[in-house]
Amino acid sequence: MKTAVLYSFNDIRIEERPVPEVGPGEALIRMKACGICSGDVMPWYIEKKAPLVLGHEPAGEIVAVGEGVRGFQAGDRIFVHHHAPCLECRACRRGDFVLCETWKRSHIVPGGLAEFVKIPAVNLARDTLKLPQDMDFLAGTLVEPLACVVKGMRRLGLKKGDSILVLGLGVMGALFVALARHMGAGRITGADMVPYRLEKALEIGADEVVDVSGRHITGLPSPVALPMADRVVVGPGNAAAMAQGISCAAPGGTVLFFTPPPPGEMLNIEPNALYFKEINIIQSYSCGPDDTREALRLLSLGAIPVDKVITHKFPLESAGDAFRLTAKAGESLKSVVVF
Ligand SMILES: [Zn+2]
Ligand SMILES: [Zn+2]
Repeated sequence: MKTAVLYSFNDIRIEERPVPEVGPGEALIRMKACGICSGDVMPWYIEKKAPLVLGHEPAGEIVAVGEGVRGFQAGDRIFVHHHAPCLECRACRRGDFVLCETWKRSHIVPGGLAEFVKIPAVNLARDTLKLPQDMDFLAGTLVEPLACVVKGMRRLGLKKGDSILVLGLGVMGALFVALARHMGAGRITGADMVPYRLEKALEIGADEVVDVSGRHITGLPSPVALPMADRVVVGPGNAAAMAQGISCAAPGGTVLFFTPPPPGEMLNIEPNALYFKEINIIQSYSCGPDDTREALRLLSLGAIPVDKVITHKFPLESAGDAFRLTAKAGESLKSVVVF
């Protein structure tokens, strides 16, 4: 079978690998579509894992199941989460699935950018979801990224009527905007420096957008400065954006750091101001099985405009182009490899 293997940021190769063998409790899927994750295009994060088969936003069809598998059979159309928790350890009992050792170790084999993928027993049992009949595989690739946003939004504590500011309007920022709209947020402001992404955010549900490069965009509702907001999502993984996010938090507000900065990067904060304004700073890393279920429910409700979020499709042979387009963070949101 063909796979797309990342050796370094600029070196992604199409390679032949054997189709994985299926053991007890496992399943084999024929891949139908797999999203390229915006988190996978951070060189410091991805290159330490190289060489690896990219892709953890997979949707496909089961072609074989191992001995003892119940509840799944050949022909099932599914999403599988690449990490799955044990549900028994202390972290799992507290709902902190991403801190579970099983969660960290588990992964689909060899990765989503392969013609066939093996689902290990723990992933099949804990976090493999059947797609509803009327949901296509493209929408299925959004389960994982949307689940990360669902978890982030829960930790952010958005309530009906809260104003929200989303810094960074790539696909994750766009999903925050769409989910905020669905949840009945008050004023939704998006900020970015790419006109394409600003316009997309308005289409997807933002009330106004700010071009942080300082340009004025004719025809768009665009205040010149970033407004204060009850909830602030910081998309970019860097200290400057984080400091900017904190400065926009209204009293009683919460700031979410959604993307990790590289190790060693430091952030200067003034705790005095945070204290008297009771401003919270929180993080959100990946997602667990409760979040994937909620994401699937939201997608099946039509709460997310899938056709506006998925902007580019590529064949497996062009996985490198899909990766480079995602890394450019320009005129695209989600790129999906379609098999
Ligand atoms: Zn992802
Ligand atoms: Zn656990």
